[in-house]
Amino acid sequence: MIMAKSINVRLPDVLPKVRAEVRKYCSDLVDRVRANGNLLELPGLEIRLAEAFGFCDGVQRAIEIAYAACHVFQGKRIWLIGEIIHNPEVNASLEAMGLLHLPWNIDGEGYEHLGPNDAVIIPAFGVSVKLRKLLEERGVQLIDSTCGNVIKVWQRVRSYAQRGITSIIHGKARHEESMATASHSLGADRHGRFLIIYSEQDAQMLADYMMHGGDKSAFLAHFEGCHSPGFDPDSDLQEIGMANQTTMLKGETARFQSMLRNAVQQRDGNTSHFHAFDTICGATQDRQQALLDLLDTAPDSMFIIGGYNSSNTSHLAQISAKRLPTYFVRDSACLPNLDYVLAYNPEVRCEEKTSLPAKAADLRSTWRIGITAGASCPANIIEGVIRRIAELRGCNIP
Ligand code: SF4
Repeated sequence: MIMAKSINVRLPDVLPKVRAEVRKYCSDLVDRVRANGNLLELPGLEIRLAEAFGFCDGVQRAIEIAYAACHVFQGKRIWLIGEIIHNPEVNASLEAMGLLHLPWNIDGEGYEHLGPNDAVIIPAFGVSVKLRKLLEERGVQLIDSTCGNVIKVWQRVRSYAQRGITSIIHGKARHEESMATASHSLGADRHGRFLIIYSEQDAQMLADYMMHGGDKSAFLAHFEGCHSPGFDPDSDLQEIGMANQTTMLKGETARFQSMLRNAVQQRDGNTSHFHAFDTICGATQDRQQALLDLLDTAPDSMFIIGGYNSSNTSHLAQISAKRLPTYFVRDSACLPNLDYVLAYNPEVRCEEKTSLPAKAADLRSTWRIGITAGASCPANIIEGVIRRIAELRGCNIP
């Protein structure tokens, strides 16, 4: 599928201004801690940062594109589809700069008023094929910040569709990136097929159906809203190809691949009708591995910083919570005192008062803390959390 070219706004005369503006998301303190082997030692407090954390290249680029668009299209209407990235501070800042909001939706509902005088920014997770086509047809000035790693997943699922292979997408069915990827897996003729799986239960149900068949209605009811139109598990699972949302858990994806490969092996006696391609991006993998390394140093408490709707940050919190007391926080405002924090609980999808360990308030002992942050979390937010923890412990950071 050939897409119409989008406008390059990262122009040589614009970029220096943009880089000066986005300096506010940087942090001298975080840079200093990095330079000190990721360790900050204060009286009664030891803070260790993960080796890899915070902004990835894709997020950095998307933010620069959004800021650059404000310069290039100054005085014009500039629209942003959904959120440029999943971070509340960055999104609020763009809104304050006058960017108008368009809802992210799969089919472009509510886009009828757009025309050639409108500039429209596509976020880092991309948009669906239908929405992109609609924007092109309306002749808008298109500014595309879709990450290259997401585009690689689209290329993969389109090649599956071309070869008559059903895409099995490991991702969240309601996440913008997975929805966009699903739309690409329909292929050029829109007759391709996909199924989105998220949990171990989904993967097991799929593997069981492939090996033994079963109750088709129950299968389709379980995967409602997660498959291509007219999906028939009896005929559409003969040859499958896996792809992932770029920010999934690496270990989980590997496990699901192995379950489905085994299912094909058992059913067919060989795996020629199973294809897999690991599309978890390098930045996600680096942050997950760096967190595992940090957990090996056994801090007393772990703080995971980032937007609550950020997929990669949620996965970091999930990894950490399996090993240590973990607090998933948005920013320094989540730390009112040394008794509790306001931490996000993914189970109930809201912030909750969560007790800190007794060591936090015991100023005679050293509280050892590990910190990491998702790929969409700016360094200045990380600095805010570090400074707040130090302040609560009565430490001064120059
Ligand atoms: S997390 Fe990965 S896929 Fe997402 S923007 Fe960053 S580099 Fe791109």
